[in-house]
Amino acid sequence: MNPKSPEARNRDDKPFEGLIIDDTQVLNALVARSPCPRCGKSRMYFCYTCFVPVSPLEGHLPQCRLPIKVDIIKHRREIDGKSTAAHAAVLAPEDVKIYTYPDVPEYKNDGRTVLLYPGTNSRTVRELFTGKQSNISYAENRLAELPPGYNVGTLMTKIFPKNSSVEIYHVNELPIDQVVLIDSTWNQSRGIYADEKLQQLPKIVLQNRVSQFWRHQKGSPRWYLSTVEALHELMIELHLCAWGRSNNYTSPLTLHYPVHFENHPHCKPYIGEYDNLLYFFKYMYEKLHALYKHEDLLAYKRPMS
Ligand SMILES: [Zn+2]
Repeated sequence: MNPKSPEARNRDDKPFEGLIIDDTQVLNALVARSPCPRCGKSRMYFCYTCFVPVSPLEGHLPQCRLPIKVDIIKHRREIDGKSTAAHAAVLAPEDVKIYTYPDVPEYKNDGRTVLLYPGTNSRTVRELFTGKQSNISYAENRLAELPPGYNVGTLMTKIFPKNSSVEIYHVNELPIDQVVLIDSTWNQSRGIYADEKLQQLPKIVLQNRVSQFWRHQKGSPRWYLSTVEALHELMIELHLCAWGRSNNYTSPLTLHYPVHFENHPHCKPYIGEYDNLLYFFKYMYEKLHALYKHEDLLAYKRPMS
C-alpha cells in the first residue's frame, strides 16, 4: 500500500472512524489514582497485574463478549503498565485470560485452537473458512517472513484488490474456538513461540492493518500491531468472514466486506460488537495526541513497509 495515498493518510488522521466505542467521559472524570480492589496497589484506570478496574470505574466500563476464547501469553519482562494485553482482559473479562511465560496451558490439538503468529505455514482467517491454503497467501506469508516483524499479515492490496469485496461464508459456527496471542516485543516473541505447546498449534495471520500504537518498538514496522489492536482485528476478520457487516456499520476497516441482509437465523452481521476492545486504547491515543503533535511521535515515523 502506498503510505502517501490520501486513503492511508486519512486513516492515520482518524484511525477510529466508524468504530463503535463508548464515551470515555468516565475516564476523564477520574482525577486521582485509587488502590486496586484486589492487590491494593495504586492504579489510575485499571490494575495491570490483576486485570480489574479501579473501584470508581467498577460497573462503568464497557464489557465485550468475544466470539471465541482468547489466551494471551505475556513475556515476563514485558513491562506490565505498557502492555495493551491488560486492556483486553479488563474489557472482555469473560473471554480473555492472561498467562506469564513459561506458564502456558495445555491445548487440545484438534485444530480448533490456533496461534496468531506469522510464518510460512500460517493461514489467513479466510483460509480457516475455506479449509485450503491459497498460493497467493502462501507466497505473501513467505515474503512477510523477511525481515522479522514485517509479517503481521498479508498485503491488503493483493488480498482485497480495489473495488472488490470478499466472500462471506454464512457458517453456523466459527471454524475455531480459541486463539492464543503472544504479548511481547518482536524479539521476545520468538523465544515464546519456540515453546512446544505453542509449536504444535496451527498458526494464523492477520490481514494488514496500520498500527496506531504509540509506543515505539525499535526496529518494528508500522504493521506490527499492539496486542489489543491485533485482537480486535482478528475478532472482526472472523466475524466478517462468517457473517458480513451490517448496513449501518461503516468503519473503513471493514468496508471491503459485504453488507449482509440475509436473515439466516445464525447470521449476525457485524455491528461493532468488539470495538470496545479499543476503549482504553483510543482514549490513551487521543490523550497523547492532544499532548504531542502527531508528527512528533516517534512511533509514527516507523517505516511503512
Ligand atoms: Zn491489582
